[in-house]
Amino acid sequence: MLHELPELPYSNNELEPYISAETLEYHHGKHHQAYVTNLNNLIAGTEYESKTLEEIVKSSEGGLFNNAAQVWNHTFYWHSLSPNGGGEPTGAIADAIAESFGSFSELKEKLSQSAITNFGSGWTWLIKDDTGLAILNTDDADSALAHGKEALLTIDVWEHAYYVDYRNARPKYVEAYWNLVNWDFANGNLG
Ligand code: MN
Repeated sequence: MLHELPELPYSNNELEPYISAETLEYHHGKHHQAYVTNLNNLIAGTEYESKTLEEIVKSSEGGLFNNAAQVWNHTFYWHSLSPNGGGEPTGAIADAIAESFGSFSELKEKLSQSAITNFGSGWTWLIKDDTGLAILNTDDADSALAHGKEALLTIDVWEHAYYVDYRNARPKYVEAYWNLVNWDFANGNLG
């Protein structure tokens, strides 16, 4: 099957002033699109042609894994953000955060530190595992999905996610993330 670039769940300018339309034009329109195009080229004529994106991420390696995982990770990231996001968590995720981290401010501190210190390019995830909620850092294209972890939220810490808006200042981008974080999406993933 051919994979397609999913539309953003908001307009390019709706995450402003935290993430600019210019960033989304490139990050979604160019970077995410390139991973989709590469993925389609790499699976053509192979056994992966008939697999779902999730199946490919879980069963591939090398360049194919990198592109498939980046397609999945970015779609998950777009939904982790919302123009109506931010603020204190609500619903079941609020209770789960309190149980695993003590408080929202503790989670915010720990997840921010993980994202800021995630070396090089990668992703920082809030996941659910056997013992409760946890934070996971992955490198490059690596994905919580590939580790069999149930992802609740993610933050893209590749420089292309923030360079237009914050230059090299990843901490400022991570701080801005908390104004956009989509608790409804996290609650849906917590199921
Ligand atoms: Mn990215």
